[in-house]
Amino acid sequence: MARPSESSGVQDQDARQALEKLKKTFESFTHPIDLIMFAYPAEDNPFTQANRQVIRAFRQITDKIAFREFSLDHELARKYNVAYSPTLIIAPDRYHIHWIGAPLGEEGRTFLELLMLVGRGDSGLSQQSRTVIGRIADSRDIKIFVSPSCPYCPQEAVNGIRTAIEAPDRIRLEIIDIQCQPEIADRYQAQSVPQAFANDVQIGLGAQSEEVFCASLLKLEPQTIFIPESDAELVETDVVIVGGGPAGITAGIYTVRSGLKTAVIEREALGGQVATTPVVENYPGFTQVGGKTLVDILVTHALEYVQIFQGEEVVDITAGDPIVVQTSRRKFKTRTVILATGASHRHLGVPGEKRLAGRGVSYCATCDGPLFRGRQTIVVGGGNSAVTEALFLKNMGVEVTIVHRRDQLRAQEHLVKNLKDAGIPVIWDSEVEEILGKERVTGVRLINRKTRKKRTLEVHGVFVSIGYLPTVSLAEKIGVALNSDGYIARDDHHRTNVPGIYSAGDVEGGYKQIVTAAGQGAEAAMAVFEDLVNPYWKREA
Ligand code: NAP
Repeated sequence: MARPSESSGVQDQDARQALEKLKKTFESFTHPIDLIMFAYPAEDNPFTQANRQVIRAFRQITDKIAFREFSLDHELARKYNVAYSPTLIIAPDRYHIHWIGAPLGEEGRTFLELLMLVGRGDSGLSQQSRTVIGRIADSRDIKIFVSPSCPYCPQEAVNGIRTAIEAPDRIRLEIIDIQCQPEIADRYQAQSVPQAFANDVQIGLGAQSEEVFCASLLKLEPQTIFIPESDAELVETDVVIVGGGPAGITAGIYTVRSGLKTAVIEREALGGQVATTPVVENYPGFTQVGGKTLVDILVTHALEYVQIFQGEEVVDITAGDPIVVQTSRRKFKTRTVILATGASHRHLGVPGEKRLAGRGVSYCATCDGPLFRGRQTIVVGGGNSAVTEALFLKNMGVEVTIVHRRDQLRAQEHLVKNLKDAGIPVIWDSEVEEILGKERVTGVRLINRKTRKKRTLEVHGVFVSIGYLPTVSLAEKIGVALNSDGYIARDDHHRTNVPGIYSAGDVEGGYKQIVTAAGQGAEAAMAVFEDLVNPYWKREA
């Protein structure tokens, strides 16, 4: 067993190796990167400081990055059309990429990817995306709103970066940190992140796959699905795992370690719901850990073994031998599939909810909380998620009240105690009847379920946290049977009724804990291995 000092030695070694790898990558850059920051000289805000620190750190490992700083009233600011402090402009001789704010938190990943792409001078877009971008005849001014605590944001921001590198003659990009410049977000009524606009038209709400982003940019309206026109790249595997949450990631570790060629496909952020859980306190081995930190640890582990196709969406599965899995980018011929598609947010289904989504109605306190600092909001729900999110919002300076439909919370006792200690009020026995507001949320109409009395509450934000619905559309499409609660029906080995198709995690219902999802992923993976050695469907036949 490794002692603590031994394991920290291993971590140091890992960090040194990662640094060496990064240095080598920078050495291979064919293009130097010119970074210019514009800021008010007297202003020493955290964003300006963060830019200096991050860039200094990169410049310590590479001489390929040049950095200059100018005042916002310098003539170069006018030349480059810069109006906000701080703004970082990237390789202005080649591209139009402006970063308003700084690469803090999750955006650190985006910034690293940006440097890689600009250093190589190649967008790295798939052939299909390049074709779509090639069809854009006129110019596009893209704005992507992001926040440092949003795990979905890097995917959307990188989509924008790739297109700006692909077609610098037509595509201009601004990445806008909503914490740094909330008033720009306000002007666009962008009250959730990520949100993408092109030529002032909203083209994306939430993270999109690269192909869907490009199609939305071409059409200047949000597209929902992209099906390749021609036969895309073909990959042969033993197992395709759909979903990169704890169940899918764990299954991937197990199948690869059993010698099975595996692909994990995740259309959004890795980690699923955990990625947006502010704090996790019941995962063994961690007294208290940020949801995203836990995901990063899981993913780093998984990447030692398994190939993860992130930002790619499974659009179709055809059962058979082999099973064919069509994604937005390629085709997999596989012997088995594990559906670890998890669950998606349950909606209230009340008037105003759909219309004002991203305009004050939010399903992710971690992502959108910063937009509501000092403002009145409600969290709807009485479970663990609602209470955890209310505590998170309160902690970041948001005025929050819980609205719950009963007179008792469903959340665990210690979370209820934390809620009381934090002085967060609860409106009991009440349901949201309507979310009010024309262009953004201005209030909610509540109804008391006992007295039938109605009241209007003035609020700017409504965080809906009323549980999840299993994501079963793909399963249904291929004829996988569901149980009476709408979850995937499976046997003790996680086999569904369709030969070769298995399930794991929240899509199966049950306790819906991170640790149970991981356990189910491991079980499904072991069942796949055993069945591939000795296929039950052939045995039964
Ligand atoms: P949940 O436990 O299913 O709770 C959903 C809450 O929303 C309930 O209080 C429910 O009210 C309410 N609700 C449902 N439909 C509603 C509607 N149409 N209008 C108003 N209220 C409605 O969901 P969750 O809190 O998202 O948690 C999901 C799973 O993840 C659970 O298994 C939970 O234990 C787990 N989780 C665990 C942790 C943790 O351990 N720290 C943290 C987060 C999540 P009723 O109470 O009246 O049914």
